[in-house]
Amino acid sequence: MSTDKLIEESKKYLMNTYNRYPVVFVKGRGMKLYDSDGKEYVDFLAGISVNNLGHCHPKVVVAIQKQAQKLMHVSNYYHIEPQIHLAKMLVQNSFADSVFFCNSGAEANEAAIKLARKYSKTNMGEQKYEIITAEGSFHGRTITTVTATGQPKYQKGFEPVTPGFKYVPFGDVSAVADAITDNTCAVMLEPIQAEGGVRIPPENYFRELKTLLDEKKLLLILDEVQTGMGRTGKLFAYEHYGVEPDIMTLAKALGGGAAIGAMLAKGKVAGAFSPGDHASTFGGNPLACAAGVASLDAILEDGWLLSSTLRMGEYLGKGLMNLKKKYPFVKDVRGRGLLIGMELDMDASDIVKDALKDGYVINCTMGNVLRFAPPLIVTMEEIEGLLETLDRIFEKRSPR
Ligand code: PLP
Repeated sequence: MSTDKLIEESKKYLMNTYNRYPVVFVKGRGMKLYDSDGKEYVDFLAGISVNNLGHCHPKVVVAIQKQAQKLMHVSNYYHIEPQIHLAKMLVQNSFADSVFFCNSGAEANEAAIKLARKYSKTNMGEQKYEIITAEGSFHGRTITTVTATGQPKYQKGFEPVTPGFKYVPFGDVSAVADAITDNTCAVMLEPIQAEGGVRIPPENYFRELKTLLDEKKLLLILDEVQTGMGRTGKLFAYEHYGVEPDIMTLAKALGGGAAIGAMLAKGKVAGAFSPGDHASTFGGNPLACAAGVASLDAILEDGWLLSSTLRMGEYLGKGLMNLKKKYPFVKDVRGRGLLIGMELDMDASDIVKDALKDGYVINCTMGNVLRFAPPLIVTMEEIEGLLETLDRIFEKRSPR
């Protein structure tokens, strides 16, 4: 089918929930994507922080092939081998003692919210249900996670939303202190607000916040759906801050491209769940977990990918800073590892379109922040290619 026909049928048969670019990607290898006309692109978005190992990583592909031949699905009424392996690896490499598997970031956050409420109600009384989240946050699109999301634009038209959420400015510990009441049970935050414009909190924010929460016996839930799995140069972004959450959520890159989500918790908190409290038919299925094991294995292998993420992040950040010096419409460059935002004082969507025409997949968030989240395998040459392309695109927009 021709590309035009595919796009026509996409518009006809799919619900109109995405503003899609007129491109059909049909193949991916490493840093590269290929469209239905055979054009090659360099991917600096990684499916929004999903393809951290690049497209079709051989270890992940082989793991899926082998598992697909053996057992694709079996109910959680039974013990599931790859699920056990993945849970063990996550526990051994994090603060957590146990894991609940689901299929997406929103589902992982739903599970976290349920666990926080169950733990707090059971241990501290029925009145403990309220969760404080941050303005500008993003936690998913289900009714409850869209309520947790501190951006009214995502909730508009879907009211009534779920009761029991309060919002405070991101990065302000005293605002959290002021928002705590007898009903509060947890604070839920992203280590870096990714969809919210790649916003990084002040240096001591999480340490001071954790002290406050410990004092008040409240839980810290970290949403690492976008920042987890090596994206910031550590396996999990909380490792940069010197604090451990009580609950953490993962999805996106966890399956190396296969759909999987996870909610991890410390033992005393996880103990609040008993059989029947939460479940998911597909959660932790053999296929997704086999992909997850292979993916986590590849991320951790020799530690080179995480150190390369830090080096390449610095290299990309410096290159973007040089563009900031040259073009006054660039207001800020910020990020950690390979999650970098470049804030412009204008709408960034046309720049994304121009980059796509030039064979570079990037994206913008909050309207004016270009977001760069390439696979962690990105090289200096690929970064230089992107920087040259951006320079050319910016030059055309520069007043003479
Ligand atoms: N949490 C964060 C921080 C995210 O960035 C996202 C998606 O972008 C989600 C949750 C929702 O994940 P999903 O789209 O897999 O439901």
